[in-house]
Amino acid sequence: MNPQCARCGKVVYPTEKVNCLDKYWHKGCFHCEVCKMALNMNNYKGYEKKPYCNAHYPKQSFTTVADTPENLRLKQQSELQSLININPLKPGQLPTPPRITFLLFDFMQH
Ligand SMILES: [Zn+2]
Ligand SMILES: [Zn+2]
Repeated sequence: MNPQCARCGKVVYPTEKVNCLDKYWHKGCFHCEVCKMALNMNNYKGYEKKPYCNAHYPKQSFTTVADTPENLRLKQQSELQSLININPLKPGQLPTPPRITFLLFDFMQH
């Protein structure tokens, strides 16, 4: 029995079979996940059982993409959090942000 293509799900006949990444592919279906460039056994790069060309193989480029302003902010926030954990507030010191202190002060004036 012939195996099914990992890309299109159709039967792969021995003449057009590419056996890579623990799967079978049509020669025409074995292309880069990103740019669809045709690949072969010699020039493909496997990542999570998917073929990529040399340019789109997700190596360190992922960390660069992940460093968005939002992620940087979250990172700074967690660093701040660990600083607070290292230096706990002294007893009697209220962990109140200035804005809330002001609101309380305003409330007491009335
Ligand atoms: Zn196919
Ligand atoms: Zn590519």
